[in-house]
Amino acid sequence: MHKTIIAAVLTSVLIPGYAVALEDIHTGTVIVGSGVSGLTTAILLKEHKQNVLVLEKMPFMGGTTNLAAQYFVSVGTKDQVANGKELSVPDYIQRTAKTGRNSEMLPRTAQRMFDSQKSIDWLNSLGAGLTRPVSDYQMGISDGSSLGVRLMKVLSARAKELSIPVKMNSKVLDLIIRDGKAVGVVVENGKEKYKVFADNIVLATGGFNQNQKLISKYAPQWKGLPTTTAVSSTGDGLILTEKYGVNIKNAGEVGLNPSIHSQGGKNISMSAARLEGGIMVNLKGDRFCNDYWPDYTKMAKAMLEQPEGKSFVIIDGKSMKASKRLQSFLKSGYFVEAQTIPELAQKIGIPPENLEKTIKRYAEFVRNGKDLDFGRSINMKTDFSTPPYYASAILPGTQVSVGGVDVNDFMQCVKADGKVIPNLYAVGELTYDSGTPHGVWSGRRAAEHILSK
Ligand SMILES: Cc1cc2nc3c(=O)[nH]c(=O)nc-3n(C[C@H](O)[C@H](O)[C@H](O)COP(=O)(O)OP(=O)(O)OC[C@H]3O[C@@H](n4cnc5c(N)ncnc54)[C@H](O)[C@@H]3O)c2cc1C
Repeated sequence: MHKTIIAAVLTSVLIPGYAVALEDIHTGTVIVGSGVSGLTTAILLKEHKQNVLVLEKMPFMGGTTNLAAQYFVSVGTKDQVANGKELSVPDYIQRTAKTGRNSEMLPRTAQRMFDSQKSIDWLNSLGAGLTRPVSDYQMGISDGSSLGVRLMKVLSARAKELSIPVKMNSKVLDLIIRDGKAVGVVVENGKEKYKVFADNIVLATGGFNQNQKLISKYAPQWKGLPTTTAVSSTGDGLILTEKYGVNIKNAGEVGLNPSIHSQGGKNISMSAARLEGGIMVNLKGDRFCNDYWPDYTKMAKAMLEQPEGKSFVIIDGKSMKASKRLQSFLKSGYFVEAQTIPELAQKIGIPPENLEKTIKRYAEFVRNGKDLDFGRSINMKTDFSTPPYYASAILPGTQVSVGGVDVNDFMQCVKADGKVIPNLYAVGELTYDSGTPHGVWSGRRAAEHILSK
């Protein structure tokens, strides 16, 4: 019976349009969501011969993970150390604390950072190529290609190799809770509904920035801002768990992106331009903040205070050459290009003499290793001596949901009274943290706990 149903599920995925009678399914662990956190959990369980089933509401895998731009936050990895970009976990935590990060989050961040090498080794064993030390706290893909695309490529290949069933267009509508324990989920597939009963339920549904109702409820200060997140980030996991008394922790902490380029109805993250050394200027051609503050909220606020709320990120030929992602943006028409700085300024409508003055001054800071105006110390990679020059108009917007479902150290969902709902787990951006390293780390924690039962 069990095998027949799984076969029917697989067939429905592999043969589009194939109609199956949807019966209730029984499995070991059902994982809701096929981004980095969900797939990590599924792969690690399946590698230990556990029965798993992944449910994905979209017709494709990967959610926001597909969009992760450029860097995997990690410290003390062997490639960083070998390249003189060494930072200890305590120093990283101290630096993060200074950015105004909620201190409640830091102990778990420290645990994850201690596991940096472990996460990278695992991803690289699947072929991720995370060997490029970008800074003392950032690792990138060796050839400068986009992080999320590469992670999804290797994770979905491994899931396929392990024959993990991934059922697309399958939206979880509700949890099934019996005698206080999670025993399954209710699923909608087109017009059909069915139930999946499982020993463990792992919610990996991502963030909520696409849901303006939830933004208004939890983070009203950012209501109406554009968002770079995936259309699937509608906070389903928050809605599903809150209903059963799960505590929602610091959902007002929303991660902003200080460099969104909006074009043709798309919101594209230009963080890669700053990562490769780019600076930000306002309509007067002036820098107005540390262009690489790790505190994106502070940067977003500074941007909103500029004339007409407008800014540009400026890079040179060296930065463009270093990043495949930026080259693809150039091809898509997201950059204005010019052979000289005054020509670039003219093209984007800012005073040429002022932009030239700003760039000359900043280049001096790069050469001397000290930003006397705003104290930038991270990724000061270019002195703008390599033409051509590029500019892209940018805005602030929301990117990740930092706050989320409250979990204990094993990623079990915790209620307001501190008790867990047995067999119910949450991982990834749905919980109180975000980013792909958190997806890998939390997915591993949940899998390890399930395997230990
Ligand atoms: C523009 C951008 C740039 C970023 N850059 C970086 C970066 O450089 N480095 C980095 O580490 N991180 C970056 N991030 C953050 C990172 O991408 C995310 O935090 C991470 O990928 C989230 O992974 P996840 O598995 O938790 O969620 P997701 O990848 O969003 O996966 C969740 C999945 O769950 C599915 N789902 C949701 N609800 C249901 C339901 N009810 N039923 C079934 N399925 C459901 C969704 O369709 C989706 O596929 C960036 C994010 C954005 C938006």
